[in-house]
Amino acid sequence: MTQTTDRLGAIIVLSGPSGAGKSTVCNILISEDNNLEFSVSCTTREPRDGEVNGINYHFISKDEFKAKIESDEFIEWAEVHGNYYGTLKSEILGKAQQGKDILLDIDIQGARLIKEACKNDVELKKCVEYVFFAPPSFEELEQRLLGRGTESEESAQRRLQNAKGELEAWSEYEHLIVCHNKEQGLANMKGLLYTMRNKTKRINKPDFYA
Ligand code: 5GP
Repeated sequence: MTQTTDRLGAIIVLSGPSGAGKSTVCNILISEDNNLEFSVSCTTREPRDGEVNGINYHFISKDEFKAKIESDEFIEWAEVHGNYYGTLKSEILGKAQQGKDILLDIDIQGARLIKEACKNDVELKKCVEYVFFAPPSFEELEQRLLGRGTESEESAQRRLQNAKGELEAWSEYEHLIVCHNKEQGLANMKGLLYTMRNKTKRINKPDFYA
């Protein structure tokens, strides 16, 4: 992918209901692109099979989470599906200043808090891009979420209930990706990433000046 070096990174806020395919697409994208990093959130939920501490999340206790709130380490945090999740400031700002693009998989409450934070931070505002990742239909979401088998029945039902409210937030975002399947979702994300990397507002000095 074409890379313009002297620029601020994009901080990509990606939201969408559980089961839309966000994690699958993001994991592939990050494994294929060495300028794109995942912002590793803190969470109080239990790790799923195969999830690794420090890679998928920082899995911490409620007390540890509260201590981080007290010491102002989060740029945003929220209670989602009964657990706490938060984005560490250390995961995003410095990296974007170095030109790294950062992907934040966060819920709609978190996205709204980032929008608020941008009101007092011109540089952050310059970096942030909002992407909503949606399934083609609610029925399809239901099938995917129940089919992936990562959740207890109770957790899956809760996520489906929450999905209805989450889907209504799509128009608060600048970009919409409707994910019909992994290949198409990935291709659309790559296209968006290309566009974001060439936004003049984040470019300090294009390569042709060298
Ligand atoms: P999961 O438990 O499936 O990994 O994530 C559940 C939800 O929490 C998803 O909608 C995901 O986007 C959201 N989430 C993950 N990390 C964060 C975070 O740091 N902040 C917020 N606000 N939401 C998060």
